[in-house]
Amino acid sequence: MMKDGEHRRRPVSMSSLRQIAALYHGHWGQLFWAVLWFVIKHAPAYVTPVVTANIINIVTDPAHHTMGEFWINLTVGCLFVAQNVLTAWLHTRAYSGLTRGIEMELRGAMVDKLQHLSVQFHTRTQSGRLLSKVMRDVENVEQMLRSCFGTLVPLATSVTAAVVVTAFNDPRILWLYLLAVPVAGCTVGAFRRPIRRSNRSFRREMEKTQAAVGEMLEMVPVTRAYGLADREAERMNHLLAGVKDSGFRLDTTNSVFGATSWVVFQLFQMICLGFTGSLAYRGIISAGEVVLYQNYFGQIVTAVSGVVNLFPTLARGLESLSSINEIMEADEVEPNGQTPAPAPLRGEVCFEGVAYRYPDAPGPVLRDFTLRVPAGRSVAIVGPSGAGKSTLLSLLMGFIQPDAGRITVDGIDLTEMELKSYRSQLAVVPQNTILFSGTLRDNIAYAAPGVSDEEIWRVIDQIGLRDLVEGLPGGLDASLSEHGGNFSGGQRQRIAIARALIRHPRIVILDEATSALDSASEQLVAQATQRLMGRCTTFMVAHRLSTIRSADHIVVVEDGRVAEQGSYEELMARKGRFYQLKVLQQ
Ligand code: ADP
Repeated sequence: MMKDGEHRRRPVSMSSLRQIAALYHGHWGQLFWAVLWFVIKHAPAYVTPVVTANIINIVTDPAHHTMGEFWINLTVGCLFVAQNVLTAWLHTRAYSGLTRGIEMELRGAMVDKLQHLSVQFHTRTQSGRLLSKVMRDVENVEQMLRSCFGTLVPLATSVTAAVVVTAFNDPRILWLYLLAVPVAGCTVGAFRRPIRRSNRSFRREMEKTQAAVGEMLEMVPVTRAYGLADREAERMNHLLAGVKDSGFRLDTTNSVFGATSWVVFQLFQMICLGFTGSLAYRGIISAGEVVLYQNYFGQIVTAVSGVVNLFPTLARGLESLSSINEIMEADEVEPNGQTPAPAPLRGEVCFEGVAYRYPDAPGPVLRDFTLRVPAGRSVAIVGPSGAGKSTLLSLLMGFIQPDAGRITVDGIDLTEMELKSYRSQLAVVPQNTILFSGTLRDNIAYAAPGVSDEEIWRVIDQIGLRDLVEGLPGGLDASLSEHGGNFSGGQRQRIAIARALIRHPRIVILDEATSALDSASEQLVAQATQRLMGRCTTFMVAHRLSTIRSADHIVVVEDGRVAEQGSYEELMARKGRFYQLKVLQQ
């Protein structure tokens, strides 16, 4: 995969063009209307030169013309100009509907794909990178489509109008136009490389600085605590100077290109003026025609030189398109079985000789893990750090699949189970409670939308948070700051337990937080946890003695196997691995 800011440069090839065309799939009708309205809205550009030429011819040769002709030309010119308001609106409606629609479809398809990619994929991929693909890359593609339209359609219409009108008037002038295209093309071509290079270096500097600013903001509390604010500011200044330098180079390259192309095109226009002027002097063409050809010539040259601005946007858009394809072509979609989970589940869970190895890990985490948990029982899983406890929970949630052996729930192999119906009866309290910015009500009812306030209050009572919630301004409608920063660790955990309780789950998976809680909070969390246990099958990775004691069954995991199991009393009496672990914790 590419790193951010390290995009591949690719030439615009046939496959790139095919990719761009694929974006318009299903939108060709809209594109047709957008082009049609553009051609009409842009009509003053081709009509006014003709009107101006006619009026000059009329006023310079009154003997052969009438004032009637003068007024007709003027009226036609005015009508063509006036229609621009309406047609510009129609064009924008058609074109904006088209590009915004493509943008929405792209993002929608990405979001859908991300929701179906495995949890493993998400664990491996930085969420910041995915965010940038969904937001920034799609925006780049949209800008590319806009730039292509805004450059190529005017170019095509200007050249067509100029060629048709000139061929009709005096085909001899056509060769001048034909000469203008390679001259403009060569000038653009000569500057393409330096402009692209300086654009790229500017963009890289910007991306580097953006990443550094993000990191700097995250580090503010640490930086402040260590008194390193000045050093950080100095480091940022260094990066900002890089942005300034590359921006300066970009400006000068653009300006040299602007000036050179202006001079080349003006000189060429002078040649055109000289040629048409000499024809007019000899009476071969009229003075009006000199103005007409000058106008058209100017339009062609401007349109061709506009192509240079297309390259950076086109290159960036194509890079973004391939970055988007990294998601769209990812094949790590979560496998899903066909058998719907019985409703309600009894909750009997069996691990039968389960083995699992992480794709990049040297050895297996679990090997021949066997455990039977009868419905409604609570099991505490203990063991040293890295023994594979969280991996067991991931297997049970269906995030990963065993390499050998099988896991059955109510006798159905989990790999054959339809995960949506299974997970609708599952509740998870993860180690790091994930709260989102919204109201307390939204956070508690996240997995049970539409639940009544009475039910929410009932759950709040069960976890002992009534006093706290009633004390909050707004009560249930109180807003949580980002990630629930305005709640303590213990409170956040109890909110997560409430979120699990409100679902009436058949199986609960609890990954106890390892962060130290004071003993009062620990007591409250333990009480809330006990509410969950006893009603349904409960699995918990336990770190606290208070919760271990209340579990029906304790399993000690070591070396990927069950090292010891039994009730708390049995294990303590046996004075084996559990006893040693417990003694170590005290
Ligand atoms: P525990 O919960 O008992 O502390 P885990 O199940 O989290 O243990 O991890 C067991 C082992 O698997 C550890 O050695 C850990 O480094 C490794 N591991 C965990 N997650 C991954 C992963 N996504 N990729 C590779 N190795 C992993």
